[in-house]
Formats: sequence, C-alpha cells, structure tokens
Amino acid sequence: MRPPRITGETSRFFPADTSGPQRITRRVTRSSVKHLPSEHPPPAAADDLTLGSDIEDAIQRKARKRRRVTKEEDAAAASSVKLEPASPPAPRQARKPARKVKDPETGVVKAEPPTSWLETYNAVLGMRRPGGIAAGAAVDTMGCERLADRSASDRDRRFQTLVALMLSSQTKDTVNAAAMARLKEELPAWKEGEPVGLNLENMLAVEPEVLNGFIRTVGFHNNKTKYIKQAAVILRDKFGGDIPPTIDGLTSLPGVGPKMAHLCLSAAWGRTEGIGVDVHVHRITNLWGWHKTRTPEETRLALQAWLPREKWHEINWLLVGFGQTICPSSARRCGECEVGLAGLCRAADRGKVMEGRKRRGAEKVEAKVEAKIKVEEGVVEGEEEKGVATDLVKKEEAD
Ligand code: SF4
Repeated sequence: MRPPRITGETSRFFPADTSGPQRITRRVTRSSVKHLPSEHPPPAAADDLTLGSDIEDAIQRKARKRRRVTKEEDAAAASSVKLEPASPPAPRQARKPARKVKDPETGVVKAEPPTSWLETYNAVLGMRRPGGIAAGAAVDTMGCERLADRSASDRDRRFQTLVALMLSSQTKDTVNAAAMARLKEELPAWKEGEPVGLNLENMLAVEPEVLNGFIRTVGFHNNKTKYIKQAAVILRDKFGGDIPPTIDGLTSLPGVGPKMAHLCLSAAWGRTEGIGVDVHVHRITNLWGWHKTRTPEETRLALQAWLPREKWHEINWLLVGFGQTICPSSARRCGECEVGLAGLCRAADRGKVMEGRKRRGAEKVEAKVEAKIKVEEGVVEGEEEKGVATDLVKKEEAD
C-alpha cells in the first residue's frame, strides 16, 4: 500500500517514517490530537489550521475564514450605502375595534378608541396635506362646501350650500359642480330686474321642468327637483327664508338626512354638532376595523362615541378625499398607502404592500447613492478649486 503523502508542513510536526508499511485507519482530527500522549503537545494556536495529517480540515477552515473576511468586506462596502428595510411595519399588536369599557373602580362605562387610530389618522392626514399623495382630491375643489358663490350674500351662500348638498348624493363631485355652476349662472330671475342665479326667490319661481333640465346630469334628478322645490317652500314659510341653524330644522326638510344636516350646519353656519358620514367615511373606517357597522348613521354614532370633537368636521374632508384618490371601493392603491405600508390596515392587499415596501427601499438607496455622489462631486470640485488657487499662489510667488 502506498504510504500517505506527507507534505512539508506536516513533516514539521511529524517527521516522516517510511521504514515500514504504515496504515492509517483513522482521520486525525483536532479532537483526537487532544488525546495524544504528552510527548506530542498540542501545537500553538497560530499553527492550528495547518495541524495534522488531515489537511482537508485546514483547507476547510481556511476557506471558512476567507468567507468570513468576505462577509466583513461586504459589510464594510455596504456600510457606505446601507440597504434599509423600507418602512418597517409597525410592531404587531392585537387590533381592537372601538369598544365600551367599564371602569372597575367607578363603574363608569366609556368608549375606548380602536387600536392605533391616531397613527392611522395622522398617516392619512400626511397623505392629504399639500404635496401628499392624496392631495388635490375632487372634494378639495368641488366639495359641497366649496360650491357656494363667495361673492353672494351670507343668506344666499347658505342656501347654495344646502342645494349643493342635496344634489350631491349619488353624484360625482365633478358632475355636481357642473350642475351647480349652471344654476348659479343661469337660474332665471323671479322678476325682471332681479339678479339671475341661485337664490331662494329664483328657486321658488322656477318651473320644476326647467329646474330638472338644469340638474339633469345628477343622479336621481327627478326626486331632487321635487325635494328642492318643496324645501324652498318650507324655508320661506317656516324659517324666514333662510336655512335653519339646527339639525332638527335641517332634517325636517325633504331629502335631508343626518349626514347632510351635519355637513350643512358645519359648512353653512360654522357649527359642528356631529360627524358627516358619507359612503367613504363609512366604508373606510370599517375597512380599518374601527367598528363593524351596517349604515352610515351607525358609523356616525360609533365614531362620535370616541373621536375627539375637534376632528369631527375634518374627518369627512379627510376620508372623502382619501377615498377618491387612494382607497376607492375598487382598485385601491395599497402599495402607495402609508396606512398599508405601516401595517395599520387589516384590509390591505398584502402583495401590493410588499411591492410598495420593496420599491420604497430601492428609492431610499437610490436617494442615498445620489446624495453620496453629490457630496463626492462637491469634494472633487472643492479640491479642484483648491488646486487652481494653489497654482495661482505659486505663479504669483514665482513672479
Ligand atoms: S392599505 Fe389599502 S385598503 Fe387599507 S386604507 Fe390603504 S388603500 Fe385602503
């Protein structure tokens, strides 16, 4: 049998003895070396990797060491442009809807808000602010609050706000705005010499068919024509020609429900006594799991039980615009939605959110690289300028 090959390194520790046949039946490993008699003391640590006849160990360990170095190098290289996870999701916690909680000491029952409601609210607020992804929604320019003529008298503006709200149900803001523009510009004057446009007197005088023609593009225009004409008579006969400043008064008008009444009171009289819950507010707050309600009216009561009062007026503008831009009933943009990216929405499309997080991570890295390049270019430019200056000084000295 061929004796085992002894390399130069090995022979330093185990002088070759080729006097007789040798048979190696066992691999000599580090652990086995430990049990060698004392005349073979364990080698110094520095030589450990090349110890023994099992050269494979040494190679493997060297290879391992090399891999470790590579990782360190990689880490060092990556530290200049570090990949960060995009918008790490908020730590998972049990999401609870709004609920009633009884104080064990006082026995008082109070409404507890849903988990993380303020983070969610603020995330949407950030998107809706100027420059945000949900800024510039149709409601911002064509919402009912904005459709009254600013140059009209207070009384006429209030009436216009009421009409805009009555026309708005089941109708897009753009369509409603166009119908309102027609009324404001073309509704015939009730008497010769009086102004044309949208006011109570002209509304009382106009024939239903003519009014129906003006608003023919809005949803349910036949019913709306009937309700607006009836409401105009009630305003004249019961409320002195102005719109009533109370929820009860407003809801006594045909076709005006609580949502419209709260929005109207808030927009026309500047008084917020409740939340204007439309389909967007109802749908989105249910998507978030803030409550489980079947109708907008139930949602209104559920929200009013815990939402701070100073947000009652704002939440309608906030969620209507959010629903129009980011979270419509179909084709939601969960991958761009801060609520979804932050892990705050239980109805989020997980695939879209994952894609959005990846995209955001890549954008962050790109931005960092660009910033780094700019800094480096600045340094280079600075150094070039310094070089030019030094050359000039040298030239002056030489002169
Ligand atoms: S994550 Fe999706 S479903 Fe949830 S609020 Fe955002 S857009 Fe709507």
